[in-house]
Amino acid sequence: MTKITVAKGDGIGPEIMDATLKILKEADAKLDIEHIEIGEKVYLEGHSSGIAPASWESLRRTKVFLKAPITTPQGGGFKSLNVTTRKTLGLYANVRPCISYHPYVATKHPVMDVVIIRENEEDLYAGIEHQQTDEVTQCLKLITKPGTEKIIRFAFEYAKAYGRKKVTCFTKDNIMKLTDGLFHKTFDKVAEEYPDLESEHWIVDIGSAKLADTPENFDVIVMPNLYGDILSDVAAQITGSVGLGGSANIGADYAMFEAIHGSAPRRAGQDMANPSGLLLGAIQMLVYIGQADVAERVHNAWLKTLEDGIHTYDLFKEGVSTQKVGTSGFTDAIIERLGQNPENLKPVSYSSGSNQRIQGSFTTPVPAKKELVGVDIFLHWNGESRDPNVLGDILSQFKSGPFEIRLITNRGVKVYPEGLPETFCTDHWRCRFTSEKMDRAGDYSHVIEISQMISDAGLDIIKTENLCRFDGEITFSLGQGQ
Ligand code: NAD
Repeated sequence: MTKITVAKGDGIGPEIMDATLKILKEADAKLDIEHIEIGEKVYLEGHSSGIAPASWESLRRTKVFLKAPITTPQGGGFKSLNVTTRKTLGLYANVRPCISYHPYVATKHPVMDVVIIRENEEDLYAGIEHQQTDEVTQCLKLITKPGTEKIIRFAFEYAKAYGRKKVTCFTKDNIMKLTDGLFHKTFDKVAEEYPDLESEHWIVDIGSAKLADTPENFDVIVMPNLYGDILSDVAAQITGSVGLGGSANIGADYAMFEAIHGSAPRRAGQDMANPSGLLLGAIQMLVYIGQADVAERVHNAWLKTLEDGIHTYDLFKEGVSTQKVGTSGFTDAIIERLGQNPENLKPVSYSSGSNQRIQGSFTTPVPAKKELVGVDIFLHWNGESRDPNVLGDILSQFKSGPFEIRLITNRGVKVYPEGLPETFCTDHWRCRFTSEKMDRAGDYSHVIEISQMISDAGLDIIKTENLCRFDGEITFSLGQGQ
């Protein structure tokens, strides 16, 4: 018996969860279930994340969460339950198989079997955002070495365990050289540990275009959080139906399994909803908890049902389908087929290789020699016609140690010295203080002294960002012309 926590959620959630649990029971899954409540009712009782504090106790006990979709109430003040759960339980890997079931589910891409592995905790989703000036807001993109190494090694381990041939990485490192650059470099390095697997990298824009056009050329794709969020939906949609997508969120100690669709409130309580997405999430759970034989039996019975043309309303198509059923009819049809394999669709096999908990490990980086070679001081300045030369002249009075003003940019474009008059300037200025060739180190007292002088002159400092060399290497983006 494996203990799991189950939440039935809102809308169609209870129906599809009941259907899923019934199938698992009939397939002899050995589950000891604890139920918790999540979603709309819990939000409206005043718990801003949609989950009551006591429910965490159950999750801490079982460490495995099978979750139905919930309805997020309209209006402000409600936090995403998924984001809270992922962050609280450290669920760093989101795994989303996107498979087409041609000719039983209409799709433009009959040959598609892609697994998207999305980093789940970092990137622009750290939730660190600020309004800095009247005109400018920012969101911090954080990409860490351990986080990146973990998700990339997870992707390769997944590919190995599931007998896949290739791992592809998408980033935008031609623009974000440090953050996405770290992701790409780590990918190349980790790939060397898996010589039996093919590896490739695409810039995310052309990579997405290729994925949408010829998904048959992809196998496993690993991505930072934002690209993964967007492209896992695109990939699921082009299989023909988002309703068939299940997903796993995996951490070092905890895991959560769910459907990718929402609570479809308009379909609730009518015995109409398709339970397939949640069932496919539950199948991933069975593999995770070491019941791969049950997972295989359920998955193949489900494929056989699909192949026999027994379809819920969302998949039903005259000429392809043989029978239109509701949630319960579909559930019973799967149960009747337990023990059968599909004849035309490829049966699944969860061999002993995949019957294990896949994890991504990381090595602790050796601390580098770190030197402070300057500072970027960001100002909110709306002075004289927003003329960068006026600001440059003011700032050129302020020097400390080896640091003096070398460069001002506005939205990343150099405007001082020798800017172009055509450049549109906002009220947000990045002012870079370094030694002439950025080769002389200073210390933080120099940053404080310059900041003090700037503040005393009545200028509005938004923030400062230290410029460092790690082991002698410049590790900050250079302004144009530097
Ligand atoms: P949705 O996925 O609930 O529904 C979109 C469309 O797909 C609807 O037309 C619905 O009829 C259909 N559909 C979805 N699942 C189906 C199924 N299993 N069987 C048959 N048809 C299905 O998306 P939405 O309408 O944008 O969102 C509804 C609610 O769900 C919102 O409150 C949203 O916040 C929430 N939501 C929750 C989750 C989650 O809990 N993980 C994810 C997405 C949306």
